[in-house]
Amino acid sequence: MDENFQGYSESKDSFDIPPELLDEIQRNIEEIITSFPVPEDNKLDVIKKINFMYSHTRHMSLTDGLTGLYNRRHFDSMVEREFLRSKRYDGDLSLAIVDIDFFKKINDKYGHLCGDYVLKEVAYMILDNFRKTDLVFRYGGEEFVVLLTETDINGSVVPLERLRKRIEEYPFKFNGEGLKLTISIGVADNLVESTQELIDNADKALYEAKGGGRNRVIVFNNKKD
Ligand code: GH3
Ligand code: MG
Ligand code: MG
Repeated sequence: MDENFQGYSESKDSFDIPPELLDEIQRNIEEIITSFPVPEDNKLDVIKKINFMYSHTRHMSLTDGLTGLYNRRHFDSMVEREFLRSKRYDGDLSLAIVDIDFFKKINDKYGHLCGDYVLKEVAYMILDNFRKTDLVFRYGGEEFVVLLTETDINGSVVPLERLRKRIEEYPFKFNGEGLKLTISIGVADNLVESTQELIDNADKALYEAKGGGRNRVIVFNNKKD
C-alpha cells in the first residue's frame, strides 16, 4: 500500500513543468504575439487569455494538487532564497518540519480517502496558524515545512506549540467517524553555514521528537555539535 503513495503524494496532482521552462514558454509566446498577425482589435484579448493560462500553469507547477500548499520544488528554491536573504541582512529565520504521527495507521484503519482528508485539514490548520509572511510547504507525503521569516528559534516555538496543541485537540471527523491526531515538530535556526545544514538540523530535531514519544516540538541545539 505504501509504494502506491510514492508517486501519488509527490506528483499525481502536480503539474510537472519546471518554472525555468515556463519562463521560456512565456518568452516564446511573447515572440509569437509580436510576429503573428493577430487583428489589432483582438490583440488585447489574445494577450489577456494567454497571460491567464500562463499564470494558471505557473501556479499549478508551484503548488501541491491535494492541499493547495506550495510544493517541494518551490520549497527548494524558496529556502535558498530566504536563507541567503537572512544572512545578507543579518536577520532571523527558523525552519520547522512538521510530521503527522502514525499517519500510516490512519490510511490502514480508515482508508486513503480519510488519509487525504486529514492531509487537507492539517494543511489548512498549518496555513491558518502562522503569519502571512511565513511560508508553508508540503515537503513530502505527510510532512510539511514552515519557513518562519524574521523569527528566531525562541519566537518560533510559540506558534509551533500552538499548532501542536490545536491539532491534538481538533475533533477530526470523516464519514461520521471521529478521529484524533498528533504531530511532531523539529525546528532549527539560521545560525549555520548552509541551507542543507539548516534542513538537516530541523530533521535531526524531528527525529528526536519522534524518539522522545512524539506529539512534541523539539528545538535543535546548535551547541550540541
Ligand atoms: P511516524 O509517527 O513515525 O511519522 O509514522 P508515520 O506512519 O506517520 O510515518 P511513515 O513514514 O511510516 O508513513 C507515512 C505514510 O504516509 C505512508 C503513506 O501511507 C502515507 N501517505 C503519504 N502520502 C500520502 C497521500 O498523499 N495520501 C494519503 N492518504 N496517504 C499518504
Ligand atoms: Mg514522515
Ligand atoms: Mg509521520
